[in-house]
Amino acid sequence: MVRRRNLFVPGKTEYVKEKASRPPGQCILCDVARGVGDVVNLEIAREGDFIITLNLYPYNPGHVMIFPARHVEDPRELDRDEHPQLARLQNLALDVLAAEYGPAGFNVGYNVGAAAGASIPHLHLHVVPRYPRELGVVDVLSGAKIVIEDPVETRRRLRAAFADALKKSRG
Ligand SMILES: [Zn+2]
Repeated sequence: MVRRRNLFVPGKTEYVKEKASRPPGQCILCDVARGVGDVVNLEIAREGDFIITLNLYPYNPGHVMIFPARHVEDPRELDRDEHPQLARLQNLALDVLAAEYGPAGFNVGYNVGAAAGASIPHLHLHVVPRYPRELGVVDVLSGAKIVIEDPVETRRRLRAAFADALKKSRG
């Protein structure tokens, strides 16, 4: 039996529980946008009409979400001012994450609608760094040494990196 060490996988249980306890009609991302509730400390940066947060349930270190402050549920509801803001922030996030984490690639995208896997209806763009070696069933079963960054450390790194990148990009 191989001993498992330094294996930390963020649990979804607390998040699911927390979400389930929310009164109907209340939106977790609207709460973040308004700066209320218990998830505000996930916030990384704010720019224009958008907010960048750590993902509530990070798939990988550096997994962020970019979402509009106002509640929309479909990218077609974004107006002509919001589209270019989001495009800019998406590319800025790719730059920041590339510089901070040096991933091998990214997944970037939306889940629109519950059937597509959107657990939160409020539109949010996922930017997920991908690494050559990631946590998989084989890794877990083989007892591989896997270290996933502490979310508090991720937040600290990304807050600083985004603040710097946003400042530079404003000229
Ligand atoms: Zn909302």
